[in-house]
Amino acid sequence: MKEECGVAGIILPSDRPQSNNVAFKLYYALYALQHRGQESTGIVVHDGISPKSIKGMGLVPDVYTKDSLVRLIGNVGVGHVRYSTTGGSKLENCQPFVLNFKGGTIAIAHNGNLVNAKVLKDELECEGRIFVSDSDTEVIGHLLVKELLRHGSVESIRNVMRKLVGSYSLVIYINGSLYAVRDPFGFKPLCFGEVDGGYAIVSESVALDTLNSTLVRDVRPGEVIVFKGNGLESHQIVTEPHPANCVFEFIYFARPDSVIDGKLVYKVRENIGRELAREYQVEADIVSPVPDSGITSAIGYARESGIKYIEGLMKNRYIGRTFILPGQELRETAVRLKMNAIKDNVKGKRVVLVDDSIVRGTTARRIIDMVRSAGASEIHARVGSPAIVAPCYLGIDMATRQELIASYKTIKEVENLINADSLGYLSIDGLMRALECNKNDMCIGCLTGEYPVEIPGENCRIKQARLDYFNEPKRS
Ligand code: AMP
Repeated sequence: MKEECGVAGIILPSDRPQSNNVAFKLYYALYALQHRGQESTGIVVHDGISPKSIKGMGLVPDVYTKDSLVRLIGNVGVGHVRYSTTGGSKLENCQPFVLNFKGGTIAIAHNGNLVNAKVLKDELECEGRIFVSDSDTEVIGHLLVKELLRHGSVESIRNVMRKLVGSYSLVIYINGSLYAVRDPFGFKPLCFGEVDGGYAIVSESVALDTLNSTLVRDVRPGEVIVFKGNGLESHQIVTEPHPANCVFEFIYFARPDSVIDGKLVYKVRENIGRELAREYQVEADIVSPVPDSGITSAIGYARESGIKYIEGLMKNRYIGRTFILPGQELRETAVRLKMNAIKDNVKGKRVVLVDDSIVRGTTARRIIDMVRSAGASEIHARVGSPAIVAPCYLGIDMATRQELIASYKTIKEVENLINADSLGYLSIDGLMRALECNKNDMCIGCLTGEYPVEIPGENCRIKQARLDYFNEPKRS
């Protein structure tokens, strides 16, 4: 099962009465991270005696009420929003997972996807462990509990990290403290800030902005940070981490106002538009974004090319992402419900239409038909990502290889299929210039079919075994 999620954890000093409102702060943080998952959400709070939780299917404002949050008293807690499209849409999979065991309580929230979850789960089941969900996060929880029965928290987490292959940004509650854990590649984002004398750990910095907290820094790849009510301790568990941040967070997934690993997503997307304009010049009258995901890149394209920026399409703000709807037919209806052309803006115009990505090709085709029916004389599609040719196994729910249009069609064929007058995908080099980084520092598996970790049946771009990098925990 693949998941895209948002995580949050907050710990406040236990000696202040106002610290008991952690549940409300988590609610706001999760609201700010809603774009990372709309299927289900959960908050678990601990008051030093027992955990209390609220979980439900649906959006943050629908799952929590003021009255229910008031009852979640405690100065420390963990929250989660989840977005899964491949089956598993049930309450049992809703996070955070809570496990009560002989040594206390853990609550765990995970963003990412383990490649070896099935193998690990089989092993645990053979030992007699019982699972209530089909989520890989529960596997991490069981592994951790096993370790905690024999070791301290940091050592336990290190031992679990040695077993995990894949992406994981975790926020874990263990007996009064919070732990932030990021895999050795730092695939998925995770950062923290200070809030009301304590700390907030979140998937994206926008959640810190919402809490009026200041971003301290990102959790480093391979790092475990222990947050107590009044301080933190960093343990660089993997001493030679190999950063491979998910490129798709910058292309599409993260909010543009987030800062991830030192990069403002808005800036990256504007650069993407500028690079696209340099790579694919065209005579045109207007540049229009496909809202909302193409807006920032369209602005960059317009600035660089000097072509007038104007909105040719309007989005219905009260509908979620079309991707959520199962089945091709429903997805196509959803595109029409979601988007409408502004006829006066496009009629008789040569339009450069900028979107962030083409996955299956359904959206682009529908939208181009819409803009053409509204009277555009030419439509030049510009895509803010290179062709997506391979699936993601590391936490972005994209599509299977068979569904990815660029995996089996040439660019010319895609151009014909989406009915564009011309089509330009950003090059990988152009994307790296927009990101101001080297492709070895990013995970670009979906663009190349080569992944930073071993995935059965796929190419691995790094040949050495990565588990050598785990050292004894050191304080720093
Ligand atoms: P399609 O080509 O019809 O599959 O849709 C591509 C559009 O969906 C892009 O323009 C994005 O805005 C959006 N999109 C891309 N990847 C995802 C994803 N993993 N989850 C949800 N929406 C996505």
